Amino acid sequence: MSELRVEEPLAFSRISRSLFSLQSEMTAPASPSSSLPVAVIGGGATGLAAAFRLARSGRKVRLFEAGTRVGGAVGTERQEGWLIEAGPNSFLENAREIVDLLRELGLENERVAASPTAKKRFIVRNGQLCAVPMSPPALFGTPLFSFGSKLRLLTEAFSRPRRRTSDVSLADFVRDHFGQEIVDYALNPFVSGIYAGDPKKLSARHSFPKLWEAEQKKGSLIRGQIAQAKERKAAGHPKSQVISFRDGLQTLTDTLQSRLPAGSIELGARIETLMPGSPWQVVWSRSGETHTEQFSRVVLATPARSLAQLAFGSLGERPLATLQSIEYPPVASLFLGFRREHIVHPLDGFGALVPAIEQFHMLGVLFSSSLFPNRAPEGHVALTVMVGGSFQPEIAGRSLDEITEAVLPELDRLLGVKGAPEFRRLHFWPHAIPQYQLGYERHLETMNSAERRFPGLHIAGHIRDGIALPACIVSGLNTADRIVSLPTV
Ligand SMILES: Cc1cc2nc3c(=O)[nH]c(=O)nc-3n(C[C@H](O)[C@H](O)[C@H](O)COP(=O)(O)OP(=O)(O)OC[C@H]3O[C@@H](n4cnc5c(N)ncnc54)[C@H](O)[C@@H]3O)c2cc1C
Repeated sequence: MSELRVEEPLAFSRISRSLFSLQSEMTAPASPSSSLPVAVIGGGATGLAAAFRLARSGRKVRLFEAGTRVGGAVGTERQEGWLIEAGPNSFLENAREIVDLLRELGLENERVAASPTAKKRFIVRNGQLCAVPMSPPALFGTPLFSFGSKLRLLTEAFSRPRRRTSDVSLADFVRDHFGQEIVDYALNPFVSGIYAGDPKKLSARHSFPKLWEAEQKKGSLIRGQIAQAKERKAAGHPKSQVISFRDGLQTLTDTLQSRLPAGSIELGARIETLMPGSPWQVVWSRSGETHTEQFSRVVLATPARSLAQLAFGSLGERPLATLQSIEYPPVASLFLGFRREHIVHPLDGFGALVPAIEQFHMLGVLFSSSLFPNRAPEGHVALTVMVGGSFQPEIAGRSLDEITEAVLPELDRLLGVKGAPEFRRLHFWPHAIPQYQLGYERHLETMNSAERRFPGLHIAGHIRDGIALPACIVSGLNTADRIVSLPTV
């Protein structure tokens, strides 16, 4: 969930969706509803970004959030001098749109780049930390991979090109290029760090579209990625940097919220029924009271289970019901604060990921206070441990004491823990991250088809345009831009 977010999933599907939607929009009749506001449903990063861009473009907007606060998965707490991230801990500033948005919001001075030591990352092998090799000489020296795997990594660029026509699991995809050891000790922990998922179930095409595209274009993943890096540079995208904000990630969602016109956000507002048409009618409820409002368009930016339950029209049809089957494994994030002298390891890095084959309780640990300043009181360090995911979902639901008890011996083994944590905070996400598994195109088609059928409907966010925070923000911005550029319905 936290590390190595280099993917920008669903690039292909985004293109096809835009074409389909454009077609349906072009056939939509013009009507007097153009001065009505746009309804944005879901106040996570996606919905906030969409609402902000719509408002900035002069559109009236109303944002409906079922919870008592906006931000969705993004949430920062400050307690007793510790800064705790409930969900995402950082994100990759990898797109021009994100740089531009931070400038537009005036957040350049709040933004903090991860410390240079964060370039160092660890993977666990045989119960020990191994630094991830970042250069060919380091690759030769690392105990992380056998000689055979090193040779495959170094020679893949010269291997016979592969071009497949149908999707495969991510595990099969990477095994074809680099062998099983790389699947176990590089792919598996990498995927844990992003999806908390199982590479045997994830779709290569949908979960890592850039890798898929690299193979399609160059046959070799190494050559394909080098070419993509050059293209990104030529297109003016920034050099990817891991970032957060001085006061944590919630600075971003709070700022987006504060820039929306007064009265445009309804908290505690659950959407019950959408009546498609021109205008759209949105039926929402709060504390047992039901309201109906009219809108020109509706942007859905909620998780799959909410989309699945949405009733459309007077017959209460549920055109998105099948999205319910998208797996969202549970994850728990345990924040631990220690006195500095109680951790032997210098914590000189981003953190460590644990391959499933190592059979630890934890998926990985972030060295939170090494990454960004201001995360722990003077003389202390902070770690954030992730547990659960597709491999061990049952662990995520355990209590604070049970999870602490399970992971402390593991932290001791890896980092040398000489004293009890002075501060603990647990956040449980029963439905953390959607898994873009094999066959995900049927879910994309369900969304495309609903948009074709109901002109004025737009679906955005982590269920469709990528699970990483920047992908969700860009999804919200792009959706808003598209609405602004289309003829009004
Ligand atoms: C534990 C965890 C760690 C992560 N770590 C990272 C990381 O380090 N880096 C990174 O880039 N990404 C990370 N991610 C992923 C990223 O944070 C999310 O994918 C992204 O924030 C999702 O934003 P969203 O707006 O699409 O959805 P959400 O944040 O889920 O927001 C959806 C909103 O819709 C609301 N809602 C639901 N139903 C309704 C309804 N019927 N009516 C009105 N409102 C409704 C919800 O209350 C919620 O506020 C992490 C995610 C989790 C859970």
